[in-house]
Amino acid sequence: MPYDWDASRKRIIGTFFGTNEIDRVPYFPLACEEMICRITGKTYKEIIASPKNYANAAITTFEFLKADTISIPTAYAGPGEALAFAEANNKKESIKWFDYKVFMAKQGVVCKTEEDIDKLEIPDHRKISVWDTCISALDIINKKLGMGGLCLGIWSVVQELRGIQAYRDMRRNPDLLLKLCEKVYKSQMDILNFYKEKVGGIGMIFFTGYSFNKHMMSFEDAMKFEGQFIKRIQKETKASIILHNCGTTPYFDEVCKEIDLLAVNGSHPLDIEYWVNFKEKFPNVTIIGANIDVSRELLNGTPQDVENKVKENIMNLATGGRYVVGPICCLPWGVSLNNIMEIPKAIKKWGTYPLNFN
Ligand SMILES: [Zn+2]
Repeated sequence: MPYDWDASRKRIIGTFFGTNEIDRVPYFPLACEEMICRITGKTYKEIIASPKNYANAAITTFEFLKADTISIPTAYAGPGEALAFAEANNKKESIKWFDYKVFMAKQGVVCKTEEDIDKLEIPDHRKISVWDTCISALDIINKKLGMGGLCLGIWSVVQELRGIQAYRDMRRNPDLLLKLCEKVYKSQMDILNFYKEKVGGIGMIFFTGYSFNKHMMSFEDAMKFEGQFIKRIQKETKASIILHNCGTTPYFDEVCKEIDLLAVNGSHPLDIEYWVNFKEKFPNVTIIGANIDVSRELLNGTPQDVENKVKENIMNLATGGRYVVGPICCLPWGVSLNNIMEIPKAIKKWGTYPLNFN
């Protein structure tokens, strides 16, 4: 039987917008390049060799996982943007390629000096082969399945370009840092425009807001160096924002008071009571994840432990919708397929509406 992406789309949309006609709790896994290589048996270079290759590999992977969502993980404002900036600024050598995972930038090389920031050229993503492949793959997926979106971020790119120095700038030269954030924002808008030209309208944006964590910076700084740009992107595109933060002390409460978010995506705090409270405080914000962390039950537990975790989350959070099962963050190489495949099984068992926990 062909995979029923129509049902998945209805499940996701119905959950986000709080309609009553959802058949079961949706599943939103973060499958990165590593997982796509593992499931398809292809090297990363084979996958990224053409839009068709990448689209097919992504479809195979997300269908194998029994997901309700699909993504092209390289169309992401981490390494993908580092590569775009490196190419546009003649620093290609700062990018290292691997066989079974995504390329990586040497952090802090592209914007090593103040002059590097001053002269930093904004990439034209249409001319960056990796981005052209990714956006074209998204176009194929969108035409075939009617879904697939973009993943943006400001601070994740700042860290790639400026490295650890960004934290020094925050104290000593915040204006310089802000100048870099502005350039990253312009680059993100270029991705959005490229996507619009090639694929069409932008409904949802998955935003990796890595600044929104107490370990990284104050909430005030997070708003200054990332939050204000999210607001601007929202104003420009009218898109709904899903905020991802996989850190251990995220500012989800604080940020939901400042920015209108469709959903939050995180795995901390691990205390389920926090999430029950969050749902009461922000009933219109969908929770994707809650306390399903890929480095705990999934990595070290048994399938039964995984089932219990999924059940705990559904039991506490899925009544009335606006909850999506999503282990966080990317499913790593070391997690067994038995444990990974237990998630969709547990969702079917415990997450089919009307919910029944006996
Ligand atoms: Zn993450």
